[in-house]
Formats: sequence, C-alpha cells, structure tokens
Amino acid sequence: MKVLLASSEVHPFSKTGGLADMVGALGKALAAAGHEVAIITPLYRGIRGRFSDLRPTDWTINVPLGETWVRAQVVALSLGERLTVYFVDHPGYFDRLALYGENNTDYPDNPQRFIFFSKAVVQFAHLQPDGPFDIVHVHDWQAGLVPALLQWEGHRTGWRPPRSVLTIHNLAYQGRFAKSAFGLTNLPPDYFTPAGVEFYGDVNCLKAAIIFADFLTTVSPRYAREICTEAYGCALDPVLRARQAKLVGILNGVDYDEWNTHRNLHLRHEYSFRKMAGKAENKRDLQRELGLPMRADVPLFATITRLADQKGVDILLAALEEMLATDMQFVLLGSGDPAIQRGYQTLARRYPTKAIARIGYDHALSHRIEAGCDFFLMPSRFEPCGLNQMYSLRYGAIPIVRRTGGLDDSVVDLTEDEKHADGIKFTEFTSRALATAIRKALVLYATKPLLDQMRHNAMTADFSWSRTTEDYTRVYQRALA
Ligand code: ADP
Repeated sequence: MKVLLASSEVHPFSKTGGLADMVGALGKALAAAGHEVAIITPLYRGIRGRFSDLRPTDWTINVPLGETWVRAQVVALSLGERLTVYFVDHPGYFDRLALYGENNTDYPDNPQRFIFFSKAVVQFAHLQPDGPFDIVHVHDWQAGLVPALLQWEGHRTGWRPPRSVLTIHNLAYQGRFAKSAFGLTNLPPDYFTPAGVEFYGDVNCLKAAIIFADFLTTVSPRYAREICTEAYGCALDPVLRARQAKLVGILNGVDYDEWNTHRNLHLRHEYSFRKMAGKAENKRDLQRELGLPMRADVPLFATITRLADQKGVDILLAALEEMLATDMQFVLLGSGDPAIQRGYQTLARRYPTKAIARIGYDHALSHRIEAGCDFFLMPSRFEPCGLNQMYSLRYGAIPIVRRTGGLDDSVVDLTEDEKHADGIKFTEFTSRALATAIRKALVLYATKPLLDQMRHNAMTADFSWSRTTEDYTRVYQRALA
C-alpha cells in the first residue's frame, strides 16, 4: 500500500509528546512491513541544521487561505528504501521558537498555520506524479481538516482522493476556533453545519476529522471505549458514538531501537533482567547528577511529563506532601503550567535531600531517569495511550498508574494476575488513592523476591510495533473496502 502520514510532529524532527514518537515509529514500522510510506510535517526551526541530508524537491505548495494565496517549498529526507519525510517549508508559519506556542500561550495564528498545513497535505496528495496514495492517515486536530478538504478537492476537480484514516491521540485538544477561521478553509458554506465542521458556532478541526474520515482509530482499546462516554468524551462523545462502528483502539507500540537498555547512547551502563547491576549503577549516576544522596537502599520514584491537568500532577503533588516524610526519593522532569511548576519547585526546596524538580524538556535526561529510577508515576486523570509507562516497563522501573485508557491496557496489577504482574494500579482519582499506591510500592521495594519477579515481568513485556503495524494495516484495508 502507498500511505501518507500527516502529522504536526514527528520524532526525531519535532516533538512535544507521544504523538511524535508514535508517528515516527509507525512510519518506520509500516515501511519495514513493505508499504510505501511518506510522512508530511512542518519544517520547524532547527530541523535543517540538525539534518544536513535534507534535499530540495520540485514541489511547491500554493493554496488559497481565505482571501490570500500562500506558497511553501517542500524539502525531503529519505529515511530508507520505502520511507521519505516531506517537510512543508514556510518560515513565516513554522520557523519559530516552539511548535504551538510560547509561555504557555498558543500562537494566535494557529488556525492559519494548521489550516494551511492541512491544505498543503491535500495538495501534496493530489499532485503525486508516481501514482496516488491509497491512504492518507492524519493525526490529531492539526491535520484534522484534511479528510473534509480531500472530499471537497475530489468533488471540485473530479479527482478520486485517497481514503482517509484519523488517529485521535488526545481528544482534549480539538483545534476549536472562532467561526471566522472557517473562511480560511475555502470550503463551501454547507460544510459549516452541526453535521460538519461546526461545533456550537465555532470551527472544530478534530470534529471535522471524526465526521469526514473513512475510518477512526485511537491509541488504546480502553480509551476507544472511554471517549464514547460523557465522562471522557470532551463533548464530542455524541459524534463519536455515531461513528463507533468505524472506531477502533490500537495500543501504540514502542520503538525498542530507541527505548532500550542496551547500546543506548544516553546510558552509561547497559543492563538486562539477567544482569541488573547496570541499573543500580545508572541509579547511582542519576542520584549524583541530581544532587540526591547516593543510596542504593532508598526507592527512587520519578515522573517525566507535561505539567498539564490531564497528567494528575495536582494529586501527585498532594500525595508527595504526605509521602515524602517516609524514606524515599523523587524526581520530576517536566514543563508546562507555571503554577504547577512552582508547586514542585517549592516541594523540592522543602525536601532538598529527597525531591528534585527539573523544569524543562530534556530527552537524554528522560532516558537516564527511566534507567535510574525504581518506580515511575503516571497518575493521569485520563490517558489515551501513554508511552512512558511502557518505556518504564522496559527499563525495569515499576509503573504506578491510574486505571484509565492505555495505562490500564498496558500494565498488569498484582490483583489482576499475580504471576504476570508488572505494575501497581489505583482507580480513584484522589491523592489518597495515589498515596496508598505509593505505600504499596514501598512495601514492594522491601520485598525483594516479588520486586525481582515484577521487574522481570516488566522488562520482558512486549509492546513492539509488529502487532501494532498489523492492526493499522487491517484498518487501512477496512478503509479501502
Ligand atoms: P503525552 O503525549 O500526553 O505528553 P506520552 O506518555 O504519550 O504523553 O508521551 C510523552 C513523551 O514525551 C514521552 O516520550 C516522554 O518521555 C516525553 N516527555 C514529556 N515531557 C518531557 C520532558 N520534560 N523532557 C523529556 N521528555 C519528555
């Protein structure tokens, strides 16, 4: 099959979260499975400098955006025989400090930027000289208008557009803009109805994708069920329920070439479940780096996260207030909401020998934390898939997770399966329930045989891309049927 993946972020070129990891890995895995894969994404600041093999192409994007025409060049990078990444080069829109906004504020022209990007995707798909794509697979709201634009382009020009698949990585981010943004789409007015792009008088890019895509996926089976309910549906649950027959949940895979405890350029000490000495050394190094007492006997808890409401960082802060009186260490790596940042910084000042708050984004440090910590905390309010708990499993860091979305689908608690347990789960979204889970972790840390068994289970749990790739291939086949 010939597949075009359209995403506003792709690892290793750009990343704010799991979306980037997933699209980068999906592209690689589909190509390895024999598909012809192109990925299209914006050319953000810094990419050109880091990837000197970028080459110009003959493609010029030239599309109307409301009243004006917008042009961009397309540059390309081949990542292998069947995998090429195409970057939409529009410096005015994409050569910026950040992907979506600065100082916790979205760029005000995000509607222009991503409606333009969606139009660029459609024009790129339309102008393929070497045969059309079978599937255009769009990710999240930033590419959300693509299915509607594909349909209209087909209608307008007589072109038979590819089938479209939408993957929802996070329903909470919808790309909702004032009605004036609709003018930028150049779609006819009959697309702006409650059965189309309109959502309570606004434009809603994700809703448009849910309605117009031929097939829908989200990133875990449990989240696929959750988003059809009022509690998790972010007001789009009625739209999703109407399309439930075309919605499946596919748990993301892990790119084990990247997230591995062997031959990992970010780690000084290799290890495996047979030879755990390296983990202890990584822990020691991490404690030294963070300025924590270098003690092997104290359990080290960690979290690496966007500091956003979704991630349960508020209940974590409250639980730590209670738990840091015990003999434990904690490190947070994250950035986001300034008030939450301050909360963790204050905590770290109060417990200088126990708690560290590293505010910022640091990919290499995230590997060192996973390798050095004993427990990894993910108390999310909701979690579409979550990748860090799966990385933690591979790194032998026992995940402590709330029973929701992909966290529930990827971690096994002792009460569910004693033999195969590899993590600790809690249900209620409260700091008390989380503190109880942390207490269980302290007991587990002191119960060496059980800890060893759970670490073994964790490190041998397999979320490799082969299964995920098969599932997506089946979705493409269903979209084409
Ligand atoms: P989400 O996509 O909702 O942010 P995921 O768990 O799916 O959550 O993916 C988060 C990804 O982003 C992981 O690869 C994680 O390591 C990374 N990440 C998040 N915050 C940071 C940070 N401050 N520094 C480095 N990596 C981070």
